[in-house]
Amino acid sequence: MTGDTGRSWMGRRGLLSGALAGGAAVVAGNSFLAPDARAQARTGSAEGCRVRRPRLHTREEWRAVPPTDPHGVLVEPFAPALIVVHHMDYPNTTDYSLEHAFQLSRDCQYDHMHHNGWNDIGQQLTISRGGFLMEGRYRSAKAIRRGDHVIGAQVANWNTASLGIENEGTYITELPPDAQWHALIATCAWLCDTYGLPPMTAIVGHRDLNQPGTSLATECPGNALYKQLPTLRKQVAEAMGLPVGDGSPNHVAGDVPASTPSRERDHGPATGPLDPTR
Ligand SMILES: [Zn+2]
Repeated sequence: MTGDTGRSWMGRRGLLSGALAGGAAVVAGNSFLAPDARAQARTGSAEGCRVRRPRLHTREEWRAVPPTDPHGVLVEPFAPALIVVHHMDYPNTTDYSLEHAFQLSRDCQYDHMHHNGWNDIGQQLTISRGGFLMEGRYRSAKAIRRGDHVIGAQVANWNTASLGIENEGTYITELPPDAQWHALIATCAWLCDTYGLPPMTAIVGHRDLNQPGTSLATECPGNALYKQLPTLRKQVAEAMGLPVGDGSPNHVAGDVPASTPSRERDHGPATGPLDPTR
């Protein structure tokens, strides 16, 4: 089912261009507004994944509660253009168990619904420090398998165009544990393959879209993890059997200082006036 079939990917171009105008040339040169994204996604889905699909723990498994308004969760019949890497700004726990991972998802959902006032958990996917991948927002798993896009609440003004992966932990100075890193690679490879996205340009950090120097600035996904995104893109391309080339640098140069002005500096704003849902 589609929440709003009247709005096509192409119909969003003006809106997205408007967002870009305020956000700089961050994605200039990317396949960001590729009009054939939907066709690519359908082709990818129809042909089946070329990469191994990672074990995805469903909402039923972690015992999610239903959205406040299930009909308010929009499922669009097109692929997202970007995969956004986040850190959750949560403690760097050493509890790597599956039970902890499920509790993490429940805690995050509660926080997003009761403190942020959103319809449901914001992100489409969550990865615990133990490397467990979990479904986030309602119907995300089914939508991904179909090449569709559930609109989340994870990056201000870009939620129509992007799918968010929340990584448990805080990665300003530390890096994710190996299990989480490898799960992130596998997840990105699966998403890029399913949606027909080029990993070198489609994988971005939250700060690439809510940039330093703007009112929406964020440190997310942390300076340390952000510096690893070029490596992530290469390793995802390798996992997909694609040419790696000379890699793609990050859009934002240098570290984001702790004095970055933002209402949610560490994790960053997840919704904005251009987003259709919360
Ligand atoms: Zn973020």
